[in-house]
Amino acid sequence: MDQTLSPSEIALKKGSWVKLICGASNQDLPSISDLCALYGTAGVHCIDVAADIAVVNAARKGLDWVESHHGTRPWLMVSISDGEDVHFRKAWFDHNLCPSNCPQPCQKICPAKAITNKEGINENQCYGCGRCLNSCPLNLIEEKNTNLAPKEFGLLLESIQPDALEIHTAPGRVEEFKTTLDTLFKANLNFKRLAISCGIEGHSISIHQLAKELWERHAYLRIYNQRPIWQLDGKPMSGDIGLGTARSAIKLWQDILPIAPPGPLQLAGGTNTHSINYLNSNKRPEGIAFGGGARKIVQPFLQVAQDKNISLTEWPEGWNSALEQAKQLINPWLSSQGRA
Ligand code: SF4
Ligand code: SF4
Repeated sequence: MDQTLSPSEIALKKGSWVKLICGASNQDLPSISDLCALYGTAGVHCIDVAADIAVVNAARKGLDWVESHHGTRPWLMVSISDGEDVHFRKAWFDHNLCPSNCPQPCQKICPAKAITNKEGINENQCYGCGRCLNSCPLNLIEEKNTNLAPKEFGLLLESIQPDALEIHTAPGRVEEFKTTLDTLFKANLNFKRLAISCGIEGHSISIHQLAKELWERHAYLRIYNQRPIWQLDGKPMSGDIGLGTARSAIKLWQDILPIAPPGPLQLAGGTNTHSINYLNSNKRPEGIAFGGGARKIVQPFLQVAQDKNISLTEWPEGWNSALEQAKQLINPWLSSQGRA
């Protein structure tokens, strides 16, 4: 193995890449700093956040902590999208319209505890999972698209200068993908890796059609000398739910494996503590990304730290317990060997 490669590149080569997704719409800044410090300490190679200066600063605070305590620093990846995308949305309603006797099913279903009696939806905490959208008997809840247009993200990314980038794309958006890629490569950016996130959830297409879409993007990426990480988005933003979602993410990978373009394949969308149990130890994807599943197992500790108005890093007992949980989730993947 080339000793000049960074730990993230080595992990991609070996097939033991692990990424933490903080969420393309998540702006819960104290939690983002804590999650980055925690999962960076546990050993993830990359942390994926929204293209937002405040979010990036919160993530860098956590990454600085990791570097100063452990001498390693995971990559900071920033996500954008080439069109409307469930990862780039927030829910909204006018809480003044809610009847006082409503049993609040919206609050009960929200995994981020983003909905309160007083304010309605706390925009910073909502990460756009969409579960509340159909929960209101009065249909008060709407979704708002938060995606940036190409002309907006070029300058923003130049000021952020992330280590890596991710483009969320979807079937039927090849032209939009090309425009997005052209914009990125016109900007003054110096990123190390590009990831392409795509799945078939919500689209009536076959796995062969998805593969064709990825190959079309692959051909265009070759113009820019890119061999991307393919993020296979099984069941978007559902990793906190359980067994079924873990299976969906793995099934997408198993189905597309023989017909996918070259480049590391990475699971996402539904990944959690169950994912490892569905895999044959001799046959693994090159990487995995954890989002809601990673957050859920440490959420009680994040919440106590927030209630105490301190960082999780300042509460040794909670930190150690949360770190134990984080390591249990990612350790089996850190020793994986993929097909790359
Ligand atoms: S349920 Fe999901 S979309 Fe609705 S407020 Fe909570 S995080 Fe946002
Ligand atoms: S379910 Fe509808 S009416 Fe009830 S609190 Fe939620 S948004 Fe308001």
